[in-house]
Amino acid sequence: MTALFYLAAAVELVVGTSLLFSWQRDRTQVFARKLGLSFFGVAGSVIIFSLYSDAPLDSPVNLWLIPALASISLYFLTSGVLDLTGSPLRGWRAVLLGSTLFILLTGVAIEVDSWSSQLSVSIVYLSVGLLATGALRNKSRPHRLIGPLLLLLALHPMISANGDPAAITIQFAVGAVLRTALGFAVLYVALDQSATETRHAGERFARLTEYSLQGVAILTTDSLLYANPATLRIYGAQHAQMLTPAFLSESTPAEERQKVITLFRQLLAGEIKQANWEGERLRLDAARRYLHFFAYRVNWDGQYAVCLMISDETERMDQNRALLHRATHDSLTGLPNRGALMQRLHDYHLDPAAPTHLTLYLLNIDRFKLINTAHGYSSGDEIIRAFARAIAELPGTSGQLYRIGIDEFLLTVEDPARLAQLEQQLLEQLARPLPTALGEFYLDASIGKASYPAHGPLDESLLRAANAAMHVAKTQPGSHIVSAQASFEQGSSELLALEQALRAGIRERHVYLCYQPKVDAASQQVIGFEALARWHRPGIGMVNPQLFIQAAETTGLIGELGTLLLRNACQQIVQWRAEGKASLPVAVNVSPLQLLNPHFPQLVMDILRDFQLPAHLLTLEITESAAVQNLEHTCSQLRELRGNGIRIAIDDFGTGFSSLSMLRNLPLDTVKIDKALIDPLPGREGTAVVEAICKLAAVLGLGVVAEGVETAKQADTARRAGCNELQGYYFNKPLSAEDAGKLLH
Ligand code: C2E
Ligand code: MG
Ligand code: MG
Repeated sequence: MTALFYLAAAVELVVGTSLLFSWQRDRTQVFARKLGLSFFGVAGSVIIFSLYSDAPLDSPVNLWLIPALASISLYFLTSGVLDLTGSPLRGWRAVLLGSTLFILLTGVAIEVDSWSSQLSVSIVYLSVGLLATGALRNKSRPHRLIGPLLLLLALHPMISANGDPAAITIQFAVGAVLRTALGFAVLYVALDQSATETRHAGERFARLTEYSLQGVAILTTDSLLYANPATLRIYGAQHAQMLTPAFLSESTPAEERQKVITLFRQLLAGEIKQANWEGERLRLDAARRYLHFFAYRVNWDGQYAVCLMISDETERMDQNRALLHRATHDSLTGLPNRGALMQRLHDYHLDPAAPTHLTLYLLNIDRFKLINTAHGYSSGDEIIRAFARAIAELPGTSGQLYRIGIDEFLLTVEDPARLAQLEQQLLEQLARPLPTALGEFYLDASIGKASYPAHGPLDESLLRAANAAMHVAKTQPGSHIVSAQASFEQGSSELLALEQALRAGIRERHVYLCYQPKVDAASQQVIGFEALARWHRPGIGMVNPQLFIQAAETTGLIGELGTLLLRNACQQIVQWRAEGKASLPVAVNVSPLQLLNPHFPQLVMDILRDFQLPAHLLTLEITESAAVQNLEHTCSQLRELRGNGIRIAIDDFGTGFSSLSMLRNLPLDTVKIDKALIDPLPGREGTAVVEAICKLAAVLGLGVVAEGVETAKQADTARRAGCNELQGYYFNKPLSAEDAGKLLH
């Protein structure tokens, strides 16, 4: 009998241990652990029972220990079976069940009634068995076996109901067999559920990866264990065998290979948890793709491997590249732009391999605005394209040319030995007509040149030096290359300071007009004024008008200043009229740049209308050189002005290069002979020149004004030579508005 006890206990222990092992393999199968513990509980109570079989029925072993072990065993059994049925026991219910079982069994034991204790155990088995039979009836066969086995275990004590010792032995043997069968059924269920779970997880993984757009691959350092269809697509492979480790390694650029191998080793060794990298990879068809990799370690069929998530970022990269290209290149010519140039200069700063010499040529197309105005913007664009092509095609300039402004290009040359030849080629190219889709154009360019290290460090200051040199080149007609000098930049910084001060001067009304009278040559009566700009610069004093007018022209302020002065002059005439003084015409000087504005005539008419001033009271003085520069454009502008009744005078006549035909064609009212031609009077030759001009003017029906008359003799000679009006210090210096007003009175 004792041997049978031990055998039964051993079987219980083996089954319990197997269940615990199965739980350890797959910890989601909690019921296996609980049932395993329940088997241990039974084994424990059997061993104790056999060890203390001689102990009296009311000993602590029989009263407390065995009921405690039995209730633990029953507790785990119930809880495990409930887990299996899908309604696990938790919280207060678990506590309630545990304590009820304990109280029940110890209560029965205290009564020391083995029949009652058998009965209570059987009731527990019976209820759990009924529950399991009902709840597991739709599950697999081993599931369905658990309930009936529990019922049989509940009923088997009936074998020894008559108390026959032989029947007790049989009951014991039957109990052991039933328990072993129950243990195996539970073990089978645990293993089966675990396998099903694993299969489901595998299917879920497959579903996720098979349809994923992202590549998923499992690799060790020397083999590819798995690759989803997206991985095959990304690499252009038909099946996974094509993605050999050798190919994957070759597809990685040589310089990145070692880095990737090291990352793999670190991942496999668990030194790093995850890694990210990206770069260009070659597909099987040799096409380049830009791939991003995210990797981490996985346990794959019992061995460590790296799971790679691969995203094809080629399109995003192409878009980024296109955006970057757009940001750093000029859309018209495709050349790198100013931003790219600044970046390159900045990069040199950090680059140990920066060139030891670098020369910048800053090319600015002369009078490009005029081309735009005369031919329209699309023609201007075409000419810019043709110009860029012509320069880029010069030998050795490709990749070195930037378009940094509307009509401005920059050429960089590293080899100082090439400079002389390149400069010659540049000037030759500029001397040739430029073939464009619109026909041939002759373009001049002013070129500023600055070299590193001669003219400054390798940064933006070199560009400034080239720019200042280009502005000096602009002062000479035709295409010229001017090399940088420190004084140029100083000049331009002075110009900048002047511009700033002039802006403030305009705003604060420190710029105003003086009026120099013009007298009738015969009667010497005042018959009009010339308005002359004056600027009192605070802290400095009066600034030469030629200087600040030129500064306003170079900085683009002239438009604003010119309009302001024109309005001031008109307002002054209106004021004099309002004060009841004589209405005399006032001549206002107009810069050639103001005339370039196609809306200038309209602007003048608007001002006249604003002040309700008759047009004949306003004369505009245009310098001869300005009129010559853009004859056709000037002509049409002046014609429009004159058509509206405004008088036009050609200023500083005799200093420019106007021809006879030009005088005929320009719509003019008056010629103002420059002071330089009046100075020699009353000398014979000088007088003859003035006479000739006056005769010519008379033929053309133009009035003549002699400028800069300083002496009575000059005045007299000029009058006799045929000048109708005289202006100069001999009569009056430029007067303040107030003094001029007094004169009118
Ligand atoms: P301009 O239009 O030829 O003006 C005549 C210049 O000769 C004035 O010089 C005047 O003061 C000066 N002048 C007149 N009579 C005599 C004389 O007997 N002897 C000498 N030595 N000079 C005499 P200013 O005012 O210095 O102006 C110089 C130039 O600046 C002007 O030459 C004109 O080209 C330009 N300018 C002056 N005001 C304006 C203006 O409002 N707008 C524009 N665009 N240019 C202006
Ligand atoms: Mg003038
Ligand atoms: Mg003049």
